[in-house]
Amino acid sequence: MFDKLLYIETFGCQMNVNDSERIVSMLADLGYAPTNEAAAADMILLNTCSVRGGAEEKVYRRLANLRIYKRDGKQQIIAVGGCVAQQEGEELLRKLPYLDLVIGTHNLHLLPDMVRCAERGERRSETSFIDNEQRLDLFPSIKGESRLSRFVTVMQGCDNFCSYCIVPYVRGREISRRSADILAEVRQLADEGVREVILLGQNVNSYGLKSADEPSFAGLIRQVAEVAGIERVRFTTSHPKDMSDELIACFADVPKLSGQIHLPAQSGSDAVLKLMGRGYTRDSYLDRVRKLKAIRPDLVFTGDIIVGFPGETDADFEQTLSLMEEVRYIDLFSFVYSPRPGTKAAELNDDLTKAVKMARLDRLMELQRRHTREICHTYVGSVMSVLVEGEGRLVGQVSGKADNGRIVNFTGDCSLIGTFVNVTITKAYPNSLLGELSN
Ligand code: SF4
Repeated sequence: MFDKLLYIETFGCQMNVNDSERIVSMLADLGYAPTNEAAAADMILLNTCSVRGGAEEKVYRRLANLRIYKRDGKQQIIAVGGCVAQQEGEELLRKLPYLDLVIGTHNLHLLPDMVRCAERGERRSETSFIDNEQRLDLFPSIKGESRLSRFVTVMQGCDNFCSYCIVPYVRGREISRRSADILAEVRQLADEGVREVILLGQNVNSYGLKSADEPSFAGLIRQVAEVAGIERVRFTTSHPKDMSDELIACFADVPKLSGQIHLPAQSGSDAVLKLMGRGYTRDSYLDRVRKLKAIRPDLVFTGDIIVGFPGETDADFEQTLSLMEEVRYIDLFSFVYSPRPGTKAAELNDDLTKAVKMARLDRLMELQRRHTREICHTYVGSVMSVLVEGEGRLVGQVSGKADNGRIVNFTGDCSLIGTFVNVTITKAYPNSLLGELSN
């Protein structure tokens, strides 16, 4: 029975998106229903990200905007979660008298209790780190409305300490979840009607490496793919240095494994990769890509590139463009480097001007637009298997995802939602495909 409204804004990566889903699920038990209107909400939660510079300032600005909704006479709760909460902790409560809750990345299981306290007017911050197996028991299962595609957390944290990244400091060390628990959650989701699962973690490729009793990530994928009712398996995100031959082989012999992989290169220059502490070279990255393409020629790649890392020369940047030419990503998340306090890279001499960084980013994005266009045009005339997930943008259309992750819209009846259908692609746009039902 819902008698209160919860408004969440989620920033950053899929881990935060997944955490927000868990928060909605947990707070449903306290009577909170999600709303898109902050003004109407009884509780507002910002699930924050601190991967890029200026994140804290953005959170402070957003909170200042949201405080106007804290209405007289009714106790509205304002909360901050995610990486900025983890970093700032009590300090946020001290600085912002209208803030009620600060919840760190390892403390989600405490949220219902904290909300009950906040409803009584108590302010609280919980940001303790749990860097042992105890954390494994604190993954609250998602309940509630069944959907067709769901994230399943398989590991949390990261041990890699790339020189520019704040994640190991705000998400803690890498811990893999027990495979038995993962499989139980996947079976439960399949029973609820979920057809696609996305195995989620900061570096899923190193799943299970610390435990002799658990399968490797490749082994886990094979077990998940065997769960009856699950028709498609995806994963994110992958560290290239942990992309094993065993995992690559899954793309050949696990038919349910999606034809899209996110494999962040970050740079195409060995000198920059070394400064980033990424643990692989340009050649070893491209070797993984070539092996994947050889084993599954229709596989599409998405990636991340950081432009303007300290010390990046024109020649280094050209190396990145040439790596992109070889990989030919279908989509790329590209960012201009900004230092994160507390990371090693923040101590490097960041001597590139903003103009140089922006000019490089423009060139890179232009190249990426061309690749996206060219790859997507090759799909026109082909037939794709599409999981229909909902209504399309136009009346009479439905929309779904192809095996390679592209959104496909086509004329069709809502009774198709939840089924896999074959669609002939008739037109390619940068972010979606248009097609006709072909069966
Ligand atoms: S692998 Fe590197 S970039 Fe990715 S979360 Fe870990 S430290 Fe950050």
